[in-house]
Order: sequence, then C-alpha cells, then structure tokens
Amino acid sequence: MKDFIRSWKEMDLAQVEKSLIVVGDLSAECFACHHIGLEKNTITCPNCGTHFKYMGFRRRVTSAFLRRMAQELPYLIFVDFDDFKAAGGKSDARKLLDL
Ligand SMILES: [Zn+2]
Repeated sequence: MKDFIRSWKEMDLAQVEKSLIVVGDLSAECFACHHIGLEKNTITCPNCGTHFKYMGFRRRVTSAFLRRMAQELPYLIFVDFDDFKAAGGKSDARKLLDL
C-alpha cells in the first residue's frame, strides 16, 4: 500500500524559494513574484516565468489531492509551507546577526 507521509530533508532554501508555487483554498500564488490567481496545476508563472518545481500549501491537503497533483505534475516536490517559512525566518535572523 502506498500513501503520502511527510519526511524531513535538508533543502537549499534559495532554490525552493525560486521555484515554489503556494496553493491556497481558491487559487495558487507564485512565491517568487507573489503573482496570485494561478491554477494549482500551473507549470510556469505567467508573470515572471518561474518554472515550478516545489509546491507548498496554505491549506490542509488530502492524500487524494496530492496524488492528483503528482499524476498531473510528476516532477513536483511537495514541501510543508510552515516548515519552509520557519526555516526561512531562521536564515533571515542569521543574516541580521551577520550584519
Ligand atoms: Zn512569478
């Protein structure tokens, strides 16, 4: 039996940031340029040309939804948006300390 569970992986945050689509309740947003109103299965941002490789969520997701997305866009990597924001916040704090 196969299903989706979350696992932790060390990621390059800058890489994720550059190619992340964030899916909300009604539509999705390009994280790079904050263009909103995208379809969740958008491949490339119509505003800035970002090619989406990572998908994060501002809503609860079901494994049925993830399975559908993975079938439509098999190269996508699903990330936990809260994890991403928390890790990004940490690196911002580090940047401030470095100044
Ligand atoms: Zn964009």
